[in-house]
Amino acid sequence: MEYPGNLFVVAAPSGAGKSSLVKSLLELDSHLVVSISHTTRQPRGQERDGREYHFIDEAAFRAMAAAGEFFEWAEVHGNLYGTSRKEVQSRVASGQDVVLEIDWQGALQIKQLFPNAVLIFILPPSYEELAQRLNRRGEDKPEVISQRLVNARLEVAQAKHFDFVIINALFETAVFDLKTVVHSQRLKYLAQLRSKPAVFKALDLS
Ligand code: 5GP
Repeated sequence: MEYPGNLFVVAAPSGAGKSSLVKSLLELDSHLVVSISHTTRQPRGQERDGREYHFIDEAAFRAMAAAGEFFEWAEVHGNLYGTSRKEVQSRVASGQDVVLEIDWQGALQIKQLFPNAVLIFILPPSYEELAQRLNRRGEDKPEVISQRLVNARLEVAQAKHFDFVIINALFETAVFDLKTVVHSQRLKYLAQLRSKPAVFKALDLS
């Protein structure tokens, strides 16, 4: 599938800073849109239906999956998460750049279906730092943190299947790296031809 828009897929182990990095990227780049996933997990804190996620029950989720409405879906930490096919395809087909903030299983499914997708893995600088961040966050009980650290090793092992790896040691540097990856896609020949047709025409390029 060749679409005019780019599809960026960002994955990371819990605590690596993925959500904060994507949030900063979206604030800096008004041409990027994030796709809102469907999930069976319960809303947390200030989360609202249709803003962070479309919150649905398991029966509705499974019905959508059976009807092929998900581009990808996966079970993560005991809940189901899926990316709406319609939402993503219509956007990239109309030339928008879309970001998916999903887990590694979903990212690899996307790459199979959409080889042009740009897969980005966010790594923590070390497991010690990851443990400190999860503890500092204070969101989870010690046993949940231990489980996340066990899972983190399995997740980190998937980084080699991704196109780009960003090490989130210093937040500002990691945001810059993320912006650089996004920007580099827009400098590709076909992307430039699409976005600057007059320049290409003036130079007799097609
Ligand atoms: P949380 O429940 O903390 O918001 O998300 C848990 C994990 O599920 C995170 O790694 C998040 O990126 C991932 N996730 C969120 N939406 C999707 C989705 O649509 N598909 C997949 N495969 N993972 C998702």
